[in-house]
Amino acid sequence: MNAEIIAVGSELLLGQITNTNAQFLSQHLAELGINVHHHSVVGDNMDRLIHVVQEAEKRAHLLIFTGGLGPTKDDLTKEAIAAHIGRELVYHEEALRSMEKYFMKTKRIMTENNKKQALVMKGATVLPNDHGMAPGMFLQAGNHHYMLLPGPPREMQPMFIQYGKTALAGLLEKVEKIDSRVLRFFGIGEAALEMAVEDLLVNQKNPTIAPLAGDGEVTLRITAKHESEEEARRMIQEAEDEILRRVGHYFYGYDNTTIAAELADLLKRKHVTIAAAESLTGGLFQSELAAAPGISSVFKGGVVCYTKEIKQQLVRVKAATIAEHGTVSEACAIELAENIRALLDADIGISFTGVAGPDPLEGKETGTVWIGIAQRKGSAKAFRLHLSGSRSGIRKRSVKYGCHYLLQTLNIE
Ligand code: ATP
Ligand code: MG
Repeated sequence: MNAEIIAVGSELLLGQITNTNAQFLSQHLAELGINVHHHSVVGDNMDRLIHVVQEAEKRAHLLIFTGGLGPTKDDLTKEAIAAHIGRELVYHEEALRSMEKYFMKTKRIMTENNKKQALVMKGATVLPNDHGMAPGMFLQAGNHHYMLLPGPPREMQPMFIQYGKTALAGLLEKVEKIDSRVLRFFGIGEAALEMAVEDLLVNQKNPTIAPLAGDGEVTLRITAKHESEEEARRMIQEAEDEILRRVGHYFYGYDNTTIAAELADLLKRKHVTIAAAESLTGGLFQSELAAAPGISSVFKGGVVCYTKEIKQQLVRVKAATIAEHGTVSEACAIELAENIRALLDADIGISFTGVAGPDPLEGKETGTVWIGIAQRKGSAKAFRLHLSGSRSGIRKRSVKYGCHYLLQTLNIE
């Protein structure tokens, strides 16, 4: 079973709206074990729509349409398909009655062109629209199945969940289940990660392993197909074990987690308290940490020490340190981390000082960042970064690196 999702609407082609319907349907079809090999988008034009249908029929068994079921002249999805497969359009009494009810309820007048929405293809299973007027349809013609859904997501989504899935169930008896898991990495580049697992990426058909990079992170999605869910999970686990054997050092979590959430979890699990002194990140680290529920048991607080004066007055960095090394320096990062830890009596102190840009500071280039980490025992250490990108990107990635170094520090112990 292999499906193509066809979104109909000129506003999609004009860039006025995003094709979120395709995203929604793809996610649900994947869960059902139906392969989606193509997404198509076509404008409100009869000839071009029929052409897309002809192309889609060559490569898919199931064609799912969204949009163009409304009352206006440019809504022509069912007209195009009916013409293409040679089906008559007939009034659906129930849909007509429910439309009349809908108009009564919303106290609007039902115009003649509205009735057009109650036309359905002869022989189709009608999918009721509980949140609007135009009903959906599901029908078979020859070797193909066609599902027509309305465009507005608030109508389309409940219709698909409520009625569309059931309609598809008959086609799905022996299909394989698809299961997937995302592994998240930080501190390793996309190219280096790919190199490390290249043979797996190239040779694996089932499970498949797909890399994705963004926001300074790399993820690998492992997807397995099997009739038995248990077996699919076992295949995923095997691939994961092999990947982590190679690059486990950079792995921090699964699926939709964040590195800050993982750090919060680890701090809580280990009962390690933390305090922060932030310059270039301006409180971003503390904000990320505070997003985790129950963090008050380990997050004591911190300061945003943006200016030189506040670093000295509030966090007691020595004037001599700043005079000699500047604020963007190893020495300043270490003093900030040590002092904030001691001032707040926390187990760990972390500091962020650097140049977010766009202009250089103290003769240091944009993207130069020092992160200090101090603990109750042992001497503090500082890590230097050379980040590129926008001001906002540099600040966000600094926070992620801070979390990364803390995870590594805490995991070693
Ligand atoms: P209506 O009865 O509202 O006219 P329709 O089934 O005819 O519904 P369209 O006219 O194609 O659907 O689209 C109506 C609205 O639905 C669009 O203006 C847009 O807001 C939303 N929409 C349509 N297609 C999509 C899509 N692929 N992804 C997200 N939103 C969409
Ligand atoms: Mg419309």
